[in-house]
Amino acid sequence: MTQPALDLVIAALEKIRESSDSAPRASRTILGRLRPADFVAVSLPAASASPSGPRLQGASNKAQLLEPIRERVCACKKCAHLASSRTQTVFGVGNPDADLMFIGEAPGVDEDQQGEPFVGRAGQLLTKIIKAMNFGREDVYIANVLKCRPDTPSGTFGNRAPTSIEMQTCRPYLVEQIEIIQPKVLVALGAVAVEGLLGMRGTMRELRGRWHVYNGVPLMITYHPAYLLRNQAPSEKRKVWEDMLQVLERLDRPITERQRNYFL
Ligand code: SF4
Repeated sequence: MTQPALDLVIAALEKIRESSDSAPRASRTILGRLRPADFVAVSLPAASASPSGPRLQGASNKAQLLEPIRERVCACKKCAHLASSRTQTVFGVGNPDADLMFIGEAPGVDEDQQGEPFVGRAGQLLTKIIKAMNFGREDVYIANVLKCRPDTPSGTFGNRAPTSIEMQTCRPYLVEQIEIIQPKVLVALGAVAVEGLLGMRGTMRELRGRWHVYNGVPLMITYHPAYLLRNQAPSEKRKVWEDMLQVLERLDRPITERQRNYFL
């Protein structure tokens, strides 16, 4: 933003403040974007700026903007029962400048141990799907609605699904992540992630395989990889792969004949 444009914005905000009982509001994310570093990057004279300068600055800015959110998540104790039972929080992983972002429901036991989403058996299957799409895990961004592992009674085995209240409590962090990353396509993995993201319940039969929208971003809903581990039927695996083919088309990625005929 140039100085004259910035002056105009400030003047408009002052006018709102004078003519209204409440002060103008902006999210933490937007305030982060208005930091002076951004103005430096975009106002470099053309002759002294490298062709990739402002773009790289933009990309690294996303990582920088995510950092304070990660720190807040790390210290978060809004769900006292989860804060006391977690090994660590699981924020998200991947490229902050990704075009494609996957959203799951919550960390499981492996993710809680390693501090990274989708690293257990279901995560390995997700990584396989990502590779079959001709991406690496480092090209996309992966996060969960919930940043702490849902607690389970001691001595019990396995993971439990997060409750609606837990997801509502944690959801603002995910909203901020999406706001910063601005992916071109979102993929929600499973009905619980859909409920956490959209606040709507439905069966996967109704939801998956077609486009939805989250805040203007195309959203594909597909089965959680854990479902495919429980249900090994080729028809179910093929459904997920067909959903991913739609994602590739939406991203304008080339699709080979081999990919078209692929079964997970
Ligand atoms: S689940 Fe989310 S809101 Fe709850 S304590 Fe963990 S980080 Fe905080």
